[in-house]
Amino acid sequence: MKEFKCKRCGTCCKWSGYVRLLDGESEKIASFLELEQHFFTSKYTIVTADRRNLSLIEKEDGSCIFFIGDPAGCAINQVKPKQCRDFPYRWNFENWQEECEGAKDLL
Ligand code: SF4
Ligand code: SF4
Repeated sequence: MKEFKCKRCGTCCKWSGYVRLLDGESEKIASFLELEQHFFTSKYTIVTADRRNLSLIEKEDGSCIFFIGDPAGCAINQVKPKQCRDFPYRWNFENWQEECEGAKDLL
């Protein structure tokens, strides 16, 4: 059986929707970016509608604010949130197999 391997196509980073931050992740990212915590949360996060988490904001096209395109991909890759690391096994979006380059390799 083939093993899933991310091809860094960026589709999951371009998918519009919350990138929820768990406890401690906001601090970790702010520290990685060498930003003061309050500055980071006010500039790069919003509170989710259910008020459970902070989420990274997205750009006008719906992509994640930290998606910087090819070939770099994620600007905070070393400290990306668990939600990002969990894709596609713990969460995914409709028809993700048709969009994710790594999934296409499994076909
Ligand atoms: S959509 Fe799939 S291959 Fe593309 S970056 Fe996300 S996990 Fe990797
Ligand atoms: S934090 Fe990085 S891996 Fe997560 S959605 Fe944004 S660009 Fe993609």
